[in-house]
Amino acid sequence: MAKLPVVAIVGRPNVGKSTLFNRLVGKKLALVDDRPGVTRDRREGDAHLLGLDFRIVDTAGFETDDPQTLPGRMRAQTQAAVDQADAALFMIDSRAGIVPLDEEIAQWLRNSDTPVILVANKAEGRAGDTGVYESMALGFGDPVVFSAEHGEGLADLFDALLPHIERPDEEEDEEEDAEDGPLKLAIVGRPNAGKSTLVNKILGEQRMITGPEAGITRDSIAIDWQWTDREGNQRPIRLIDTAGLRKKAKVDDKLERLSAADTRHAIDFAEVVVLLLDATRGLEAQDLRIADQVLQEGRALVIALNKWDVAENQSSLFNGVRGALDEGLAQVKGVPLMTVSAETGKGLDMLIQVAFETRDAWSRRVTTGQLNRWFEGAVEKNPPPAPGGKRIKLRFITQAKTRPPGFVLFGTRVDQLPASYQRYLVNGIRRDLGFGAVPVRLTLRAPK
Ligand code: GDP
Ligand code: GDP
Repeated sequence: MAKLPVVAIVGRPNVGKSTLFNRLVGKKLALVDDRPGVTRDRREGDAHLLGLDFRIVDTAGFETDDPQTLPGRMRAQTQAAVDQADAALFMIDSRAGIVPLDEEIAQWLRNSDTPVILVANKAEGRAGDTGVYESMALGFGDPVVFSAEHGEGLADLFDALLPHIERPDEEEDEEEDAEDGPLKLAIVGRPNAGKSTLVNKILGEQRMITGPEAGITRDSIAIDWQWTDREGNQRPIRLIDTAGLRKKAKVDDKLERLSAADTRHAIDFAEVVVLLLDATRGLEAQDLRIADQVLQEGRALVIALNKWDVAENQSSLFNGVRGALDEGLAQVKGVPLMTVSAETGKGLDMLIQVAFETRDAWSRRVTTGQLNRWFEGAVEKNPPPAPGGKRIKLRFITQAKTRPPGFVLFGTRVDQLPASYQRYLVNGIRRDLGFGAVPVRLTLRAPK
């Protein structure tokens, strides 16, 4: 696990530090122990702010009863917390205005190397206007105008924190490691599409099989082998071999449908699913259903038109299948469509190459900074609509997960964002940020 960035909340008593702490840590916070003799030294917790995760340290526990002094012990501890933090939130009470103790804290914070973000709390309504204005004289620039109690200003706080606590590099390294594992590949398709022929062909030519391994499920086994790419690198592949793929013992059972269990196993196991079509039969409704299921489950999909060696009217066949796929799989346009011959081996190297590339896109992570630079341009080029005359304000976007990629978009009235606009963003993410034709999820959230 990568270490989370650390943020310290600093400020004189009663400005609202604990209120902010509780809001960021949420319900799960370990409650302050009220038993006598239990020192309430430091409150730390895992904070979630919109899409950001970090550790938060509330220095409220360092205070004494007399709010007008800053005793040595408190100051030393607060200083230590600030020094160890990636950023400090310096909170003032904008209703009370700036008092000498605020100025004293400001003075020693200015000598710290830790970046300081000024937070003017209790600024809901107009009562805080003067304090907000006064706080600019503290020397930390414009404050984040905030209300911990009402949850106002969270998006601005996010923006202010982001540059200081962006995802640490170690975490991206972990992602890289995951990508270097064997490519988990499944091949599905109707009976007679050519699945066994294809597997025998690639395995026969590669001759580096280290499996078969013990069963993944009762009906499937894994085959590990090394594939040699164009540059001559050995790249491990783990292929799921389902019952439908193995040479069929009971030919009578070979119904003209894909085994639902095979598809299920393939989807559960695989990172990339290859759907094999028989070019002499074209794309049928059942193929589209399988393709749709693979994408719905968030797996990367590659489609291969097999028996291309005997396919007639190749260009109209290809274009027909391409069109039917784009129409039938509207949520992910441009799913890779390859032509192969399991019999001759033509196109198989390219198919595996594309399977690896598709997994790379499926595992890809972009930084929040990169993402939001793109996002600002996309929103400027095509601003969101204003249903009922009220503009939907889109604030920022963050990638919450990979494999498959998932994004969270924050803004006001996002619940009214039309599906067409969401598609505009998702398609842009795919096209401009290297996600290709993998399923991309977008979640909308209004800052609370
Ligand atoms: P701390 O001593 O800095 O930890 O401050 P607390 O979080 O205990 O808050 C002190 C008082 O200010 C409490 O009564 C809070 O309810 C109140 N308070 C905190 N945030 C806000 C705010 O945004 N607006 C208003 N009006 N009151 C607040
Ligand atoms: P499965 O049921 O999907 O495993 O399909 P098989 O691998 O058993 O193949 C079904 C039939 O299609 C067999 O007769 C294969 O020889 C034939 N076949 C498979 N791939 C090709 C191909 O690329 N070209 C041609 N012409 N025939 C193929």
